[in-house]
Amino acid sequence: MPELPEVETTRRGLAPLAVGRRIEAMLVYDPRLRWSVPPSLPERVAGRRIDALDRRSKYLLFRLADDTLLVHLGMTGSIRAFTNPPARRTHDHVDIVLDSGVTLRYHDPRRFGAMLWLPPPAAAHPLLARLGPEPFDAACDAAYLWRATRSRTAAIKLMLMDNHLIVGVGNIYANESLFRAGIRPTTPANRVSRTRLARLVDAVRATLTDAIAKGGSTLRDFVDSRGEPGYFQLDYFVYGRQGLPCRVCGSLIRQVRQGGRATSYCPRCQR
Ligand SMILES: [Zn+2]
Repeated sequence: MPELPEVETTRRGLAPLAVGRRIEAMLVYDPRLRWSVPPSLPERVAGRRIDALDRRSKYLLFRLADDTLLVHLGMTGSIRAFTNPPARRTHDHVDIVLDSGVTLRYHDPRRFGAMLWLPPPAAAHPLLARLGPEPFDAACDAAYLWRATRSRTAAIKLMLMDNHLIVGVGNIYANESLFRAGIRPTTPANRVSRTRLARLVDAVRATLTDAIAKGGSTLRDFVDSRGEPGYFQLDYFVYGRQGLPCRVCGSLIRQVRQGGRATSYCPRCQR
């Protein structure tokens, strides 16, 4: 599933091609995404200029003056840009044709993505209104996490993956960040000290930054490439490494399940 780094990389790949361009047409070949693409969407976006391409959590936000076209990649979605679009393949559901001749093509085999119209104020839309801060926001610091978790007895890993508390930390990055911070994922959130939360904020930012940097090397794949987007294969410390020796101390990485997701941790490095 595309996580924050993949979405941010998509944004960075598409922005130079999209921003400042006018949308000539939107062609919807199959509207059946997670929510049906509104029938009025092509008419609404046609002729509009893309003023900016933003990201909030895992949503891409094409800013069209006061209006916003929201795109979510779901579990398997991707957008590629073509200067000379090839014949459509299965699961190519939407084309956005720009006045430069570039086509932005949305591909999504499992169709859990979304393409929606957000009138102003976009931030008040139900999908966006209740989101917590971005991990890189200055306001998303140890003091904030400390205040937000003092009465919370849920495991720190589940808190970290809660979009109302902080956005963009999916399963992979929660596992890796907790390892880097030396925190046992099952620790009740209100038992994690402010000092350790400060380490956790740093670890989340460092982990995401590393992944986005990996993604940077794939940016050229956004144009005229038919390749599927890959995950950015970090050299994970714990994710997917259960039963293997810890890269730091050599102890065997353990796995438990939390909230239906696999959690991997080092029993010695993470207390
Ligand atoms: Zn270890």
